[in-house]
Amino acid sequence: MSLQQAIIDFRGRFRGTVLEPGDAAYEEARKVYNAMIDRKPRLIVQCADVADVIAAVRMAKNNNLPVSIRGGGHNAAGLGVCDDGLVIDLAPLKYVRVDPSSRTVLVGAGCKWADVDHATHAFGLAVPSGIISTTGVAGLTLGGGMGHLTRKFGLTIDNLLSVDIVLADGSFVVASAEENADLFWAVRGGGGNFGVVTSFLFEAHPVHTVCAGPMLWSLDEAADVMKWYREFITQAPEEMNGFFAMMTVPPGPPFPQELQLRKMCAIVWCYQGSMEQANTILEPIRSYRPPAFEFFAAMPYPMLQGMFDGIYPAGLQWYWKADFFKELSDAAIEKHLKHAALLPTWQSTMHLYPVNGKVNRVSETETAFSHRDAIWSGVMVGVDPDPGNRGKITEWAKGYYDALHPFGTGGAYLNFMMEEGEERIRASFRGNYSRLAAVKAKYDPGNFFHVNQNIRPAA
Ligand SMILES: Cc1cc2nc3c(=O)[nH]c(=O)nc-3n(C[C@H](O)[C@H](O)[C@H](O)COP(=O)(O)OP(=O)(O)OC[C@H]3O[C@@H](n4cnc5c(N)ncnc54)[C@H](O)[C@@H]3O)c2cc1C
Repeated sequence: MSLQQAIIDFRGRFRGTVLEPGDAAYEEARKVYNAMIDRKPRLIVQCADVADVIAAVRMAKNNNLPVSIRGGGHNAAGLGVCDDGLVIDLAPLKYVRVDPSSRTVLVGAGCKWADVDHATHAFGLAVPSGIISTTGVAGLTLGGGMGHLTRKFGLTIDNLLSVDIVLADGSFVVASAEENADLFWAVRGGGGNFGVVTSFLFEAHPVHTVCAGPMLWSLDEAADVMKWYREFITQAPEEMNGFFAMMTVPPGPPFPQELQLRKMCAIVWCYQGSMEQANTILEPIRSYRPPAFEFFAAMPYPMLQGMFDGIYPAGLQWYWKADFFKELSDAAIEKHLKHAALLPTWQSTMHLYPVNGKVNRVSETETAFSHRDAIWSGVMVGVDPDPGNRGKITEWAKGYYDALHPFGTGGAYLNFMMEEGEERIRASFRGNYSRLAAVKAKYDPGNFFHVNQNIRPAA
């Protein structure tokens, strides 16, 4: 049967929407969050249910089409979309069921974190995720997941109880600690290598109102603040999370006009506890280096989650490089200062996310995510709306990364990488790589799912 005939046949059996080049919705549907990515799939299939996912896997297999899996479309390397292949778009699988008695949350693979936060907040619960609410649940979770609640509750995968997953042969299985435990181990950090996850079951935690927001200091004070922060964040109560940023002050409220578009450093706090306790914990930095500006207030957790969404809408040019760090030496701080002063556009930034606390208490071999001994996950992010600035933001991110790489562990968070080759992927997984390759060989021996940070099946 010709491919065209197979597509006609497939359309008759598929419940969701099938898009081909030339269809009215195709151009919009092939766009991903990062506007640098411009791929033209042969087919985009927007799955209405698990049966559609199974049909899509079989359709691709029978017709030798490469497959990409799209959750929220936020992957900076654009791994949710492929050229000349079939995109399994899970966006219609959008449902969240909160069970307050067991504190568990069932999430469809098409959800963004805003969907989850909205649903859980009504019950005074939250699932640990990232810092931008438009990010997809699926991709973020499968790579690890780090954000405002990480020090207290661990990575997103540390709160994952089970997944429903369609494998490369089109079969459907559940993976959890009890069922297909090897697969469950691999999906907790191994990315989209093992199948199409159609739903996630998470443990949620009592989080409702947090004391949160940024404090800003001038770059002249950044070295002192960083030195204070490196000690503070390894000893602070785990209820206190704070990621460090080199940034340019956004050109609008609530930032005072005199600070707007100034390059500064910041710590974005999230404290689970009372404002009184938060103020006691933060008193030392406020008296040592009073912030030039702060926006620290009690707020509903979903408000914090959406705080930066407006700064980073979809459709910007986006290039980033990343590494894990175990320390922040004086020499590393010097490099940070040099490259922060060169921030190329106001949306470009550098973040150091703390991944200590609970994350460090999980052993390196308990999940595929191996960097359990890191203190920070760092990322240098070049961002701008203008495609003409693509070179400028890319060169800055690469230069900053090159300067800091010698101070890192050698590996990076899978979800903060562009397409950087096999060595970088191995460095991310370290000792877990060979076990991942064995699980891959068991569940996807032909490397059907290869549009991802790819783990090759063991021979
Ligand atoms: C603005 C922004 C902010 C971010 N902030 C954070 C943060 O705070 N914390 C953090 O940890 N990460 C963060 N990230 C990184 C984010 O985790 C990754 O970009 C992630 O890949 C996004 O997931 P997605 O579902 O939106 O991506 P997509 O582009 O849809 O998918 C990316 C890849 O994930 C895999 N995948 C997606 N869905 C499935 C599925 N259902 N089954 C199997 N495989 C699947 C596939 O390999 C796919 O290629 C951020 C990214 C951006 C752009």
